[in-house]
Amino acid sequence: MDSIYWVVSRDCNQKCPHCYNDSEPGAPSLRADEISRCVAHLPDPDDVPISRIILSGGEVLAWTALLFHTLQQLHERYLGKTAVWVQTNGDLLDAPTLDRLLDEHVRRVDVSSMDRFHPRSTLDRLEILTQLFESRGMVPATGTADDQDRLTFGFWGATEDQWIGPLWPRGRARQKGLSAARPEHEFCRMWSGARNFLDYRSEGSEVNIQLDDVYPCCPMTCRPIGRLLDEPLIQILDRCAHDPVLQALNQGRPEAMGESLGISEEYGLRRTRELGNHCLWCDEFFTKHALDRLAQGGRTERGIVDIDLNLEAIRRQRPAPEASPLCIAVRPIVTEPQGS
Ligand code: SF4
Ligand code: SF4
Repeated sequence: MDSIYWVVSRDCNQKCPHCYNDSEPGAPSLRADEISRCVAHLPDPDDVPISRIILSGGEVLAWTALLFHTLQQLHERYLGKTAVWVQTNGDLLDAPTLDRLLDEHVRRVDVSSMDRFHPRSTLDRLEILTQLFESRGMVPATGTADDQDRLTFGFWGATEDQWIGPLWPRGRARQKGLSAARPEHEFCRMWSGARNFLDYRSEGSEVNIQLDDVYPCCPMTCRPIGRLLDEPLIQILDRCAHDPVLQALNQGRPEAMGESLGISEEYGLRRTRELGNHCLWCDEFFTKHALDRLAQGGRTERGIVDIDLNLEAIRRQRPAPEASPLCIAVRPIVTEPQGS
């Protein structure tokens, strides 16, 4: 497995207008005991090697005790066999904190706030942070194998030249109409997308964990595929590997994920164009046709924006079955042919 991207806390000192996961001051975090339970459910490094685990937020430095607990737990489990990176907005990073991060075996620090959506005060820290990194012998990351043997840092953000430039249609980016994602932005096939997420013994496999909710991609399906507090990660992925809907996502083909349910690829492409992009089609597909393929009760599932509003629209179209749980309520619609 190439990478596990893990948001351990959505608490943040900022509330940026484009934030894809609704991070803000006071947003939810895992507790320390939950972190320990989640780490125990990450893959056994002797069975499934992981190249890197990226800890992110929210702002991970807004609650350093939780971050350092996570780093200690990860080091006890992986003993340096997996590189641990930290992604931060840089606002709260100072010399003592960086020294502590390096003491806790962090190999790379990414400052991911260098874009027009973050405050000027954040952007103005680029020079001082560069000097700080270099004073500790860190060098700019190159993204090559050379990075493995040295301590590195990187600066980037949601700029036009980056794969996240159009902004995923998620969180405040969607609510505020900032996402410029179009059908030609095939997030699912790109890095951070769902492509290869099931192929954890191969290169190019990454999963995204928001608190304890496991997603196939960083843009996030409307509900997670499983919960790390309840189930080991590999067990979640092995369970999903039998589902033709999730197999299509594993191929980076959200337009084709309904084929096993009688929903054609042509219909998926048409709805993608009509809705504006692949991830909104993904939301509609799961909400209307396959919500039972996803896990219930996740703390980060997107209720208001996608599931609740869409279900309300569906209920207006037809009466809901009696006293049904959410996933059962939408199941009858699955049986309707939706092909073009
Ligand atoms: S974009 Fe980053 S800094 Fe801004 S609110 Fe979200 S997590 Fe915080
Ligand atoms: S289409 Fe769905 S699975 Fe693919 S990247 Fe978007 S949200 Fe994730």
